[in-house]
Amino acid sequence: MKTVLLAGGTGGAKLAAGFQAVIGEELSVIANTGDDIEIMGVHISPDPDLITWWLSGEIDEMRGWGIRDDSFRVFERMARFGAPDWMSLSDLDLAACLYRKEFMAEGGRQTVAQEQIARGVGAVARVLPMSDDPVRTRVMTGGDWKGLQEFLIIEGGLPEVEAVEMQGLAEASPTPEVIEAIDLADLIVIGPSNPVISIGPILAIEGIREAIANSGAPVIAVSPYVGGRTVKGPTDNLMRAVGRSTDTRGVISLYAGLLDAIVCDRGDPDPPKEEVRCFATPTLMQSADGREAVARAVIKVADTLSEG
Ligand code: GDP
Repeated sequence: MKTVLLAGGTGGAKLAAGFQAVIGEELSVIANTGDDIEIMGVHISPDPDLITWWLSGEIDEMRGWGIRDDSFRVFERMARFGAPDWMSLSDLDLAACLYRKEFMAEGGRQTVAQEQIARGVGAVARVLPMSDDPVRTRVMTGGDWKGLQEFLIIEGGLPEVEAVEMQGLAEASPTPEVIEAIDLADLIVIGPSNPVISIGPILAIEGIREAIANSGAPVIAVSPYVGGRTVKGPTDNLMRAVGRSTDTRGVISLYAGLLDAIVCDRGDPDPPKEEVRCFATPTLMQSADGREAVARAVIKVADTLSEG
């Protein structure tokens, strides 16, 4: 079953690992690049790299980000020279970011750089950046625009978000690989990532939302709300910023016109009944078994839908 998964960091990345365990190379993950940032001469692409480390099995599962047992020697050394130290990058993370920067400086596409990185670390599934064109998400807090990493890391994602903007959208197009993966998919899954700043940028690239809507494959989201709450990060803050309710209904409203079904957590106190078909299962992915179970649950929903 050829499956496309839209994903940002944490939740979507964990589900990618679950799907890879079940369907291997039949999985293509379309990854948000709205979080990308160039700093200290490297190109950091947090979501595609996080997904790749989950797929290679190198992820530090306890922390939820970064590579297990990695050191931070290069960035710590640079900080001693006066380099900005609010964003720390581990040494092996840095290798990917340096490689990407150089590859693209020589005229290579970001998609190919990510393919090389994924292949180099033994990921089986494909990780496709949503676009080769730069799109940068920024948020307004306290009347000022901030880059997303600044907001997430320096401000801890805490100040109330007044507005969200994706710079570069007008000039950005999806890659041929992204459109082909959607066109060939037997199943399209919207992962349990932040619907506004992780999935939002992917769906905002002209042509992606349309390709999904026109696909004959079932489109199934997994809600990032577990037992009615988010697991981590500023999802509620961002949902409020775009005027949506902080629950699975709010998530459904952002994916209007796309979904055939949504997988909700079994502990959801108020599961949606009318908006779209909702299938309940435990969705907290705390182990390899848990990740695989959610992937299998989504596939089962797809089978149920195809049986009518
Ligand atoms: P970030 O960039 O690391 O914040 O990751 P995302 O923005 O892509 O995703 C954050 C969302 O993932 C939050 O809304 C969490 O509730 C959700 N999430 C994280 N882990 C899980 C999980 O195990 N299950 C589900 N259903 N959602 C999760």
